[in-house]
Formats: sequence, C-alpha cells, structure tokens
Amino acid sequence: MPLNACELEIDLLCRGLRVPDEADLGHARGIQRTRAGLGSGLELTIPAPVWLKRAIWVNVPVLERFVQESPYVLAGSSEEGYAIVDERDGTPYEIGIPREPAWYSRLTSRNVPMNRIAVMQGTYLAIYVNPMCAFWNYRPSLNCKFCTTGRNVGETEEPDKAIEDVLETAWTAKEENGITFAHLNGGYQGSRGIEFTEPYVRRLKDEVGLLVGVQLAPEKRFEQYDRILAAGIDHISFCIEFMDPKWFADICPGKDRMLGQSLFWTALEYCAARMPKGAVSGEIIAGLEPLESTLKAIEEITSRGAFPTVCIFRPTIGSDMEGWPPPRYDDMRVVMEAVYDACRRHRLPIGAAPNIEVSLVVNPDETALLAPRNLAFYRYELWRRTVKLAARPVFGMKMRAGRGRRKPVTVPAAPVE
Ligand code: SF4
Repeated sequence: MPLNACELEIDLLCRGLRVPDEADLGHARGIQRTRAGLGSGLELTIPAPVWLKRAIWVNVPVLERFVQESPYVLAGSSEEGYAIVDERDGTPYEIGIPREPAWYSRLTSRNVPMNRIAVMQGTYLAIYVNPMCAFWNYRPSLNCKFCTTGRNVGETEEPDKAIEDVLETAWTAKEENGITFAHLNGGYQGSRGIEFTEPYVRRLKDEVGLLVGVQLAPEKRFEQYDRILAAGIDHISFCIEFMDPKWFADICPGKDRMLGQSLFWTALEYCAARMPKGAVSGEIIAGLEPLESTLKAIEEITSRGAFPTVCIFRPTIGSDMEGWPPPRYDDMRVVMEAVYDACRRHRLPIGAAPNIEVSLVVNPDETALLAPRNLAFYRYELWRRTVKLAARPVFGMKMRAGRGRRKPVTVPAAPVE
C-alpha cells in the first residue's frame, strides 16, 4: 500500500533518495552544508491531503553513504514534473522541487553573497548569527558528534554576519519569497550568546517585521532570557538532544561538561512559563538512544507546555558520526505518532503560526497524518483550526512592525565564476 505524505517524508529522511547523475534538477536549491549541517540534502515538496492546507517540505539526504542503499530514485524533469519511484514495488510518488531563490546569487551592499548570510530551509530563513560555537575551540574538541558547524561556519557561510547584511538578506527573502520567520542559531557562547543575538532579534523584528526564533545553548543567568523576551522573541528552542544521560554525555561532551543536562530542562521550563503555549520547543534527535528514551523525552517536553522538534538522526558527511547507520522507518513512525499524541493530549497549538514549514524535521502538525481517526482526533483538529484562526490577527500585528520603515537596498548580481 502506498505511503501517505508524512510516511513518505519519514521514510525519505531515514533512507534518502538516489539522484541519477543525468537527472535534470532544473533550478533546484543547491545543496548547501551550512549551520550544523542537517540541511545538506535536496529540498523538495510532497503534496499532502487538502485538509492539511499545504505541501510537506523535506530536506532529503542525497549524498550520504547510506543513500546508495535507498529504494527511492528521482524520476522526471523540470519540464514534465518530478516523481520519486520506490523501486521495491514501482510505486511512483509525485513531488515538487522548489526553485532556488533568485537572491542566492546576489550580493549584499557590503559585497557578501546573500547565500553565505542565510539560507531557506523549507519556507523560513535560517541564519547562524553568532561567532563559531566555542565547543569547537577546545582540544580535544567538545563538539556534538553529529554536528558540522565547525566545518561550515567560515567555509560555506560567512564567519561573521554583520547585522546590515542579515537585514538586507531578510528583507529580500521577505519581498521575494514571502518569508514570515527567521530562525537564528549560534551554538555555545558561554554567557554571551543571548547578548550577542539580541540586536539581531530587535532589528529583524522592528525593521523587517518578521517573526523571529532563537536557538542557543542554555545560559545560567536566567535574567538573560527576560532580556531576549523583552526584545520580542517569538520562539525559543532548546537542543536537549537526548533523554538518556549516558547518550547525552557521549554524543554531546561539551554540553554535558560545560552546561549539564538539567540546565536544558530548567531553561526550557523558565521560558515556557513566560511565553505563550507552543512558543517554546525542545529539540531531540531520534534514532540513536533507545526508542523508550525518545518517547519519554517527547512526553517530558510536551508536559512542560513546549512542543517537540524531533530530528531524525542523519549521519551527515563531515561529522564524527558520518559512518553510523540511519534509523529504521518503523521506529521513526512510532516516534512521530507519539509526537502527535502528546501534542494532542497536552493541547499544544501546533501549526498555528503562518507559513513556517521546516524541511529539516517532521513538523508536529504533519504527524496528524499518522493519527487514528477517532473523536479525540477530530476534536483536537477542530480546536487547532480555531486557534489558528484566532491567532491570525495576533501574528499579523507582530509582523506589521517593520512595514514601510526601511527598504532593502538594490543589490548587484554576483559575478559569474
Ligand atoms: S552546541 Fe553542539 S550542535 Fe550546537 S553548534 Fe555547538 S557543537 Fe554544534
């Protein structure tokens, strides 16, 4: 039986997609290894049932070693349209390959290529804003073993991103791609991460009029969170990664030694108590620690009023774990079913914000496609739609701030190499 759109998304994240050498990718987004490296696949869209009201965006592994074993192969062309064929039984799945934003090949007025400032991951703008995550500076290195930030920042993206460059790029992405959300991350910066990030938050909100989310290592002085909340932050996420302390310590030695696992939970609780329900998220990696630990993490996160962002482990090229096997589909389906179930039981307003479709993870609202159709499901879906409608003017107000205050500068085209 063919997979539904969410099941296909999960299976593609687990198995990857083979792209024949001769494939016509048209104007597809280039494969860019930026930030932690998770977005290093091919961006594509999967049509979803009408009631989901959108397509599913997914960044599919295409280069990693395990992809060679994938039963999925890309077919079609930019003229005829694309499909993914499951060679186990010949099932074709219609997909879309979104065009690369035209601004990827432009320069900011300070002559920096815009795609070295920010990239689109799904429908939002992703920017690593802080200096290099300090875990990479230790000898031996304390970096998280799945991460490639230390190999990307300064190589495939600018090491220092001036606020003016970020604002120009964000303005352009808003005008040309209709983005509503910028996500800023910045690794471990000791006690200076929030301080460094705050001016970017303020100016993106005030001058561009975007919703802004931040993802940083937790800080011990919680008044720093009051500070970034006062800047108008719309979303904050904490990369908890693992529930099991041993897995946390083994895979994230810097986080374990410099911060401690419990700080992630207390910082998440602190912010969840001060922000609207669903504005905080806890990010975990599924497919490494035992399944029961992942399911427990989902429950712990949602019971604190935060939503779970579950990354299906990707053995990214260049990471210390690039030789590890990817997770099994059957396990990941169980995890994603649990995401929906926990969000429903804890009444989290998943999918309420406008036009934020993340391609790196299975978005919680997409997991509705895995849920049993019973009274509890229909009640929750009805509630979610009501909340989304009610929230529309609130988000509209938040994004009105920047309108007309400042226009992007005209940027010259990047020279052809
Ligand atoms: S904290 Fe870990 S995951 Fe985040 S940038 Fe640093 S090494 Fe990478």
